Formats: sequence, C-alpha cells, structure tokens
Amino acid sequence: QKALVWLRRDLRLYDNAALHHALKSSQQVWVVFIFDATILSPLLKQGLNEQGLRPDRRVDFIWQGIEQLDQELRKQGGGLIVQFGKPTECIPQIAKELGVETVFTNHDYEPTAIARDEHIQSSLAKSGIAFESFKDQVIFEKKEILTNSNTIFSVFTPYKNNWLKTLQAKDLEPYNCNAKKGQYAAIPANLNQGIPSLESMGFIKTGIETYLPPGAAGGQHFLEDFLHRIDQYQIGRDFPAIKGVSYLSTHLRFGMLSIRGLVREAHRRMLAGSMGATIWLSELIWRDFYFMILANHPRLAKGEAFKPDYDKITWESGALAKKLFTAWCEGKTGYPLVDAAMHQLNQSGYMHNRLRMVVASFLTKDLGIDWRWGEAYFAEHLNDFELSSNNGGWQWASSSGCDAQPYFRIFNPITQSEKFDSEGKFIRRYLPQLEKLSNKSIHAPWLAGHIELEAAGLLLGRDYPLPVVDHDEARKKTLVRYSVVKKPA
Ligand code: FAD
Repeated sequence: QKALVWLRRDLRLYDNAALHHALKSSQQVWVVFIFDATILSPLLKQGLNEQGLRPDRRVDFIWQGIEQLDQELRKQGGGLIVQFGKPTECIPQIAKELGVETVFTNHDYEPTAIARDEHIQSSLAKSGIAFESFKDQVIFEKKEILTNSNTIFSVFTPYKNNWLKTLQAKDLEPYNCNAKKGQYAAIPANLNQGIPSLESMGFIKTGIETYLPPGAAGGQHFLEDFLHRIDQYQIGRDFPAIKGVSYLSTHLRFGMLSIRGLVREAHRRMLAGSMGATIWLSELIWRDFYFMILANHPRLAKGEAFKPDYDKITWESGALAKKLFTAWCEGKTGYPLVDAAMHQLNQSGYMHNRLRMVVASFLTKDLGIDWRWGEAYFAEHLNDFELSSNNGGWQWASSSGCDAQPYFRIFNPITQSEKFDSEGKFIRRYLPQLEKLSNKSIHAPWLAGHIELEAAGLLLGRDYPLPVVDHDEARKKTLVRYSVVKKPA
C-alpha cells in the first residue's frame, strides 16, 4: 500500500490524524504541501516592493514551517514534496505519478476549501485513487455538539457547557505518528525539486521569525512559555501592555500545534483548579464554536449577516467614509488606543483580543462603516487570520452575529483605554509622539490643556491627529442607524 498525505493547515508531523491513518495503513508514505496559487496569486496585485515582490508575513511564516518539515522528513529518509500551483491540478497529478492508492488529508471547513476537496476527490476517483479526510483541527465539529432537540447551538455558553460535558479522554488522545524505518519513501527525482523559493512565487522574507518562531518547534517554545503563565491568564488577558495571553493563534492557525495538545494542557489544569486554565479553555472552545457556526452556515463566507435583519442597516459609504476608513487603517483616528492597536497590527500582523474588539466597535459604531470593510482589512493583515473566528469576531462587534453583544452596547474608546491601558504603556509603545503626556491625558490628548501639550512638545493636527469623530455624537447616530433592526426581546 502506498499513500500520499496532503498537508494544508496541519503543518506538523506529530499528533496529526491524516498522517496517523496513512502511516497505519500503508507501507510507503509521501507527504506533500502545495503553495496554493489560487490563494497566493491574487495577493500579488498589491503591496509589492520595488522589485515587484510582496513581503507577506504569513507566506514567509508558512515557508519557514515547510522548511522545518522537509528537514524532519529528510532525516527519516523521505522529504516533503512541495509545489507552487493549483491543488486541483497538482494533487491528482502527484498522486498518479507516485502510484498511491489513497490521498489522506484533514477536514477543512471553509466553503471554498470544501468545494476544492470535492473536486479533487472526484478527479482522483477517475484514476481509482481514494481520498480520505479526517477531523483534526477541532475537538468537535459541525454536528457533534447539539441542543437537546438536536439543533445547532447559536449561543455560546450552553454550547460550551455541552462541549465540556461531552468531552472524553479519547477526544484528546494524541495520534501516534511514529513512522517505521523506511516508511517515509524517498521522493522520485522528477518530484524532488526542493522548496520553491519565496522569490520564485512572488514573495520576499519579512523577518517574522524574529518575534514569531515558526513551525512546531516555535509553537512548542511559545506554549512552554505560556504554561508558566496560564494560571494567571484570567488576570492579565485583558491588558495589551502585559504578556497575559498565549500568542499561539498563528501556530494554531497553520496547525503547527495540535488543538488536542492545547486542550489537554488546559483541561488537566482546569480539573486541578486553575482559574486561568479554565478561562483559556473557554477561549479554545470559542474557536470550535465559530468553526461550527461557519460549517453550519456557509452563507457567512459570502458576507451575509448572521442575523439577516442587520443587512438592512445603511452604512456610511461616500468619500468621507473612505477617508475615515483610511484613517482607521493607518492608525490616524486621533483616539490613541485605537491608533496604537492599528499600528500593532500593521507592524506585526498581531492584535490583542481586547483591541480587536475596541477597533471593530470603533469602525462600526463610531465611524458607521460596514463591518465587512474591517473584516477584509483584518483578513489581509492578521497572521492568524481565520475566516470563522474573524467573521465571528466582526459580527460580534457589529452586533449582527450569533450571540453578539447587543447593538446599543457601544464601547467608549476613551474609557476602554483608561480601563485596559490605564498607564498608557501600550499606547506609548506604538505612539512615541504621545510619550510625554500624563497618564490621564494620553487617552484623549485633545482634552489636555495647552500647557501640558506644549510641555509634551505636541501639536495636535501636526504631530498627532485631532479626533476624526466625536464619540458622543457618533453614539447617537449609531443608535438611529441600528433602529432598522428588530429590538432584542
Ligand atoms: P489567547 O487569549 O491566548 O487565546 C488562545 C486561543 O483561543 C487563540 O489562539 C484562539 O485560537 C482562541 N481564541 C481566543 N479568543 C477567541 C475568540 N474570541 N474567538 C475564537 N477563538 C478565540 N482569532 C483568530 O484566530 N483569527 C482571526 O482571524 C480572528 N479575528 C478576530 C477578529 C475580531 C474582530 C475579534 C474581536 C477577534 C478575533 N479573533 C481571531 C479572536 C481573538 O482575538 C484571537 O484568537 C486572539 O487574540 C489570538 O491571540 P492569542 O493566541 O494570544 O489568544
């Protein structure tokens, strides 16, 4: 028996369902990764440098993870087959060339990926090759956690309670992926062309590895660091200036860490009484929740509001809205916490969860701009971009999502700043021009007196923008804008 394992968003050689099943059933196993031209080529339309190459943190991060996998496989006599192309063409072609009986892979829950997999499955079938796919990136999928009347949950807390009640040790058992000697087969010469360079695909290095070590090795390093802090997670997680969260989302996004491993760690500590681990586990369950929501409601991927009523809202869309959107993207709104958050995103590809909520609320409820614009901006810039969680997060903030915050709950960007960055440490890190403002004025510089501004060497409008909107007025406008939706019961 010969098998091909197709890695996509499960870039690890341990505790991997597809790899486990391939190794269990086949004497010879090859592993392949395709840099998907259907996803990457559209990225090359913008953000190019003088050489026409795109510094894309995610592509670079994946590339470095792939290199690690190739080295690990080579140590075991194999190697990773890597191509740049369309998976619908590459996978059937490689499978045929290798003469495998089965292609093994793990489930993907995004509608375009499901369509792609169905296409590949039927092409393979024409050549008599089987396509087997497994649950791997979630603990419970689409229809595994249901209400008492067998319907899908749309409220998180009862979903979580049911999720925890359903969980058994077997759900978290790691898949054995130890290969026998010689089981990883050498790559035939025509497929053994090495990893296509970033440049050959239109991309260039970004330096992401200096703050986000790639691959399973990098993920493990971050995890160990976090496990020293996990018991305090509930205390620090809302404060962006301190190292309170795990920063594991990007490794998790590309499957460089196993979700089963993370849940095992959190669950064991929860049973031992750790409040931090209990809350952190709850965050991992949000991740499963949003995967489940997207899998059951694929229309969300087409930009539809979860609550159809909310598609009646008229968002700002003229030249002024475009100008305000640009100010938001560039971190020039005049609201320091919002601006510092956008600088964090633009500089690193990461944004703290509290700040994602603050900037999303600001865009939709202070600027009156469609949440889909923000969703698209995040999709382009977040290293951990995940369609299900991103859509869920944006629809939560704009109140159109399942179990979202009610529309009349509007974050005040100043009080959020005072509460979650009280000493302005996070703001000062990203907006050094505000360095010398007092801890009181840094949240709303336009309210500082002339004397303080002058002493701080700050001229508003020149060194830092005046606020682009007045929060109290914007709040009133938002309540009117949202009046077209049905009042919550
Ligand atoms: P931690 O606090 O350490 O949490 C651990 C893990 O739990 C995260 O890595 C993530 O996998 C999961 N998690 C935490 N919070 C959430 C949540 N609210 N929803 C779903 N999963 C969660 N997360 C993404 O992974 N990709 C996205 O594209 C994304 N977009 C978002 C957009 C908005 C508007 C909002 C409000 C949230 C979004 N989130 C997204 C959720 C959350 O902000 C990030 O998962 C988190 O900030 C990642 O940092 P961390 O790994 O340090 O998180």
